[in-house]
Amino acid sequence: MPQGTLFIVSAPSGAGKTSLVRELIERLDGIQVSVSHTTRPRREGEVDGVNYHFVERAEFERMIDEGDFFEHARVFDNYYGTSRRAVEELLAAGQDVILEIDWQGARQVREQLPDAVSIFILPPSREELERRLSGRGTDEHAVIASRMREAVSEMSHYDEYDYVVINDDFTTAEQELQSLVIARRLTTERTRERHAPLLASLLA
Ligand code: 5GP
Repeated sequence: MPQGTLFIVSAPSGAGKTSLVRELIERLDGIQVSVSHTTRPRREGEVDGVNYHFVERAEFERMIDEGDFFEHARVFDNYYGTSRRAVEELLAAGQDVILEIDWQGARQVREQLPDAVSIFILPPSREELERRLSGRGTDEHAVIASRMREAVSEMSHYDEYDYVVINDDFTTAEQELQSLVIARRLTTERTRERHAPLLASLLA
C-alpha cells in the first residue's frame, strides 16, 4: 500500500481556510483532515471529536510527555497539537492527510517529513481581512486590532511555504487548492507507487 501525502494548510484567522478545506475534502476522494487536540474552550456549534478533541491542560501536557504529538504549539493563549498515531495510521492506509495548523507546527512537520506539501492561504486585501475579522460589527475596536495583529504575525511566515493561495473568489481558491493536491498525486514518484501493476504490464 503506497503511503499518502501530508498537506499542511496554514492561514491567518479570517482567510477562509476551514471552509476551503471542508469543500476540498467533499470534492476529492482519498483525503482527510486530521482532528487536532486543543486546550481552548469549545465555541458554539463546535463538536468534540469533529472540530477538535477538546482536552484539559493536564491531559495535553500528559500527551506531550508521552510523545503522543507529531507537532504541538502554543497559539496565542491556547495549546494545539496533532496526534502522531492518527496521522501515521491514515498515511499508512494510503490516505492523503491535511493538517490545518499554524506556522510553528508547520516547521516541526517539515523537519520530520520534508516531503510534506505546505500551502499558505492569504486574504485578498487588508481591508477585506479587517472586515472578516470584525465579526458582526459588534466587536470593540481593541478586539479587532488585536485579531489583526495576530493575523499579521501568522501571515509574516507565508514565505516558508511551498505554495500560496489567495482567497479572493472562493471557487477559484478551492480549485487552486484541489489542483495542488492533484498535481502531487500525478508526480512520477507517486505514479510509480500507485500504478505499479499498470507500469509493469506496459513495460513488459
Ligand atoms: P482556532 O482556535 O481559531 O480554531 O485556531 C487557531 C489557530 O490554531 C489556527 O491558526 C490553527 O491553524 C491553529 N491550529 C489548529 N490546530 C492546530 C494543531 O494541531 N497544531 C498547530 N500547531 N496549530 C493548530
